[in-house]
Amino acid sequence: MADSSTCSSASSCDRESCEGCPSANGGQPQSMLEEMNAYSDIKHVIGIVSGKGGVGKSMVTASLANLLASKGYRVGIMDADITGPSIPRMYGLTGLAEASEEGIFPRLTENDIKVMSINLLLPNPEDPVIWRGPILAGLVKQFWHDVIWGELDYLLVDMPPGTGDVPLTVFQSLPVDGIFVVTSPQDLVKMIVKKAYRMADTMHIPVLGLIENYSYLVCPDCGKEIPVFGKSRIQEVADEMGILVAGKMPIDPKLTELSDAGEFAKAENPYLEAAYAALQILSVKD
Ligand code: ADP
Repeated sequence: MADSSTCSSASSCDRESCEGCPSANGGQPQSMLEEMNAYSDIKHVIGIVSGKGGVGKSMVTASLANLLASKGYRVGIMDADITGPSIPRMYGLTGLAEASEEGIFPRLTENDIKVMSINLLLPNPEDPVIWRGPILAGLVKQFWHDVIWGELDYLLVDMPPGTGDVPLTVFQSLPVDGIFVVTSPQDLVKMIVKKAYRMADTMHIPVLGLIENYSYLVCPDCGKEIPVFGKSRIQEVADEMGILVAGKMPIDPKLTELSDAGEFAKAENPYLEAAYAALQILSVKD
């Protein structure tokens, strides 16, 4: 029966149940947040987004995860880039994740980062994922609800590029504390940042910072910084929108080498200290 303590139209209601009634919950919009796995305790969820593929979003996600892990934080990476997953390969994680009645166990990298990805669930990671948006979005919810993340300080979500079904589902279903937007100097930075900003703002999620990848190349002979992809406009855009520049990563062949060899757990990255500082501010509020 309708419950008069929560329902504004109880006196005139002849429904058997409140389910599906817009007046249920006192007319307040219902939360679309998905329930976390009973064995997970995650303090902060951070999204890493980009306007298009290939700008180094996974590289930034893994670099930030390494940095947090090296400072003693308990970190997980949810590889939500389901049609282009790259996190397991970067850390040399092969084979399938294990599961029990309670849920699926993430795999552990050599530097103790917990990882969940479609590539750890499919028998052949080379098979293309050719599922439609709603199935992809449902999988992301499962990564939250069915994965036993245990205790984490930070769960970094490597989002697919753009503003499609999966990013929307992540923003609606997970308690995202904030996002970092990754761009390259070649990008139409202003447009991409504004799109990501507006999407996040609609969901009341703060943009923690902009990270520029491929910013420059350090000449191995003279040490000069060469802006291979042109002059950076990231600071200009960040100032205009009142957002922090949380890092500028150069093209670093060492990072590609470690990533390609599946040894990214060894990668050190001194370029994301500002992003790390922005995350620490979240921790201080705990
Ligand atoms: P995205 O996740 O945006 O699609 P990736 O992070 O997979 O992009 O990066 C694309 C490719 O570029 C990968 O092979 C990666 O190793 C390489 N890469 C990304 N950023 C850098 C960098 N700063 N220095 C060197 N190689 C990089």
